[in-house]
Amino acid sequence: MKVLIADDDWLTARMVERSLQSSGYELTVVEDGEQAWQILNGEDRPQIAVLDWMMPNMDGLEVCRNVRGANGPYVYILLVTGNDNPDSVVIAMDAGADDYIRKPCSPAELRARVRCGRRIVGLEEKLRRQATHDPLTGHLNRGAIMERMAVEMERSSRHGEPLCIAMVDVDYFKQVNDTYGHIAGDVVLSETVSRMSAVLRPYDSVGRYGGEEFIVVFPNCDVTNAVAIAERIRTTISAAEVNAQLEKIRVTVSIGLTEVRSSTDVQRAIRAADIALFRAKQMGRNRVEFCSVEKRDKTSEAFNNTSLYRASTTPSLRPTPPGTLPF
Ligand SMILES: [Mg+2]
Repeated sequence: MKVLIADDDWLTARMVERSLQSSGYELTVVEDGEQAWQILNGEDRPQIAVLDWMMPNMDGLEVCRNVRGANGPYVYILLVTGNDNPDSVVIAMDAGADDYIRKPCSPAELRARVRCGRRIVGLEEKLRRQATHDPLTGHLNRGAIMERMAVEMERSSRHGEPLCIAMVDVDYFKQVNDTYGHIAGDVVLSETVSRMSAVLRPYDSVGRYGGEEFIVVFPNCDVTNAVAIAERIRTTISAAEVNAQLEKIRVTVSIGLTEVRSSTDVQRAIRAADIALFRAKQMGRNRVEFCSVEKRDKTSEAFNNTSLYRASTTPSLRPTPPGTLPF
């Protein structure tokens, strides 16, 4: 676990560092509040900060207030001070500190208080994970993938980079549940998303939109590349049967792709991806289709006919060989 130590007093900073070194923390030491805030506001920030109250450029209280005003994972803050005024505890806590320790403090007490912070951070991580991840597949849930989409759309607009979104739907999933049972259906969903994520780039995101539908976000990716990745997803899923409940189940997916422009909002992008997905279903499934956001506006009237959409997702009535599904 990463711990930031910020103290302008060299001796205290070294004492804190030495006290925590043996406990296996990844330590960063800085000498003023401004540097502390930069680190706590950056990517991959430390989860625990041991801050001195009185520091040049920015004091510990201001760092606390800034951290509490920012988004992102929780930072547990232990404020250290030589101030023995009883009111100072209240001031520190009100500024956002989680704990307060007076100088000079014993290394054992410091370690115990940081251990307490570690427990709180661990709990916060667990809660955050539960709130943002789908319990079945272990990947992002609907709220989290939509949030990721919004963040990436904002980022792509700011940097002028292309961004593509895919809606991935497991073909004839209802038949899997009806034929093999819901436990087998769960295995199919988990395996599908696991195969999907195995062929994504490290910075792509996949999340469960609902039921058997998944959204994939491709940052800094133009249509040509997004189609290539979507084809990889499609072929890796259909390449081998899924073993579930002693059955071998053939699984395919249909994929609708769209490219996101700076003027696009999340809802419009999802509607465009949905239209592309609808087309992939209509054209026989197990395929990738693209729809631009602009084109979506022209075809939205037809798309709004939801009975048409539902009809297209109803399994075909063609007879199928025993033990297989009509994908
Ligand atoms: Mg100081």
